[in-house]
Amino acid sequence: MAKNFTALALATFLSLPLIGCITTPKAQMATTESFVIDTETYQSTGKSERIKTIVLHYTVSDNARSIKLLTRGKVSAHYLIMDKNDNKIYSLVPESERAWHAGDGGFAGRTILNDTSIGIEIVNKGIKPQYRNALKNSELDYHPYSHFVKFDELQIKKVAQLVQDIAQRYDISPKNIIGHADLAPSRKIDPGAKFPWQRLYSEYGIGAWYDEADKQYFMQQVQLATPTIREVKQAFRDYGYQMNTTDVWDKESRNVIYAFQLHFRPLKPTGIMDIETYAILKALNKKYVGRDDFY
Ligand SMILES: [Zn+2]
Repeated sequence: MAKNFTALALATFLSLPLIGCITTPKAQMATTESFVIDTETYQSTGKSERIKTIVLHYTVSDNARSIKLLTRGKVSAHYLIMDKNDNKIYSLVPESERAWHAGDGGFAGRTILNDTSIGIEIVNKGIKPQYRNALKNSELDYHPYSHFVKFDELQIKKVAQLVQDIAQRYDISPKNIIGHADLAPSRKIDPGAKFPWQRLYSEYGIGAWYDEADKQYFMQQVQLATPTIREVKQAFRDYGYQMNTTDVWDKESRNVIYAFQLHFRPLKPTGIMDIETYAILKALNKKYVGRDDFY
């Protein structure tokens, strides 16, 4: 008896919303009309591509482990370039979707880089195994050029083709083709000192590079008038780096110097400010800053 009563009560309860539905006035019901989106008649001029930046990474792993990390975990990238003698570039995330490759950091005024960038992972071990712990219990603060593993020639050709294509399609400013270290200098050092930025610039027209004559000019200028720490830090910010405003070269700001050197003076990345580093930075600012690339 009790069972039947419960069943009856449940049936009554379940039927209530149905009754409510039936008695809803017609005006509140969803319309069956279908509207058309007109994409032809009017066009806005105030618009730009969502993709502004290309970020290059190395995976610190071999092919098998890189695939596992990038396809099963929370880290991802739009493209993967393996260390393999084939003609393939692997697309892991469609360009229209976000890949989770950049993390915290910023460059050129943007801070949520995953929203506005294409991430490319290159299979490369990063620091040679014998040097992985070289910074612990040593006088070294940063890995020198010789500690990095070089990239395979075929990988560089694949990177060149891919980056050229993406940069062209989204009209990406040369200086917004960066390494992970450029946007997160206190967390990351990839793609490291052996990533051939200068070659990509001179052989394929990819990314930013300074003119030697400008560098020489600024080296002479620095001899005449030594810039203050504040001025040097401002020059980093002008180029796009997130640089703090302290009046000293603390670890955080030296990490920025190191990231910059990995990119633009890879044979001698020290994390210490010097005349050549500053002259390169000034030469880059002369050539690239002022371009309206924020919008
Ligand atoms: Zn990275």
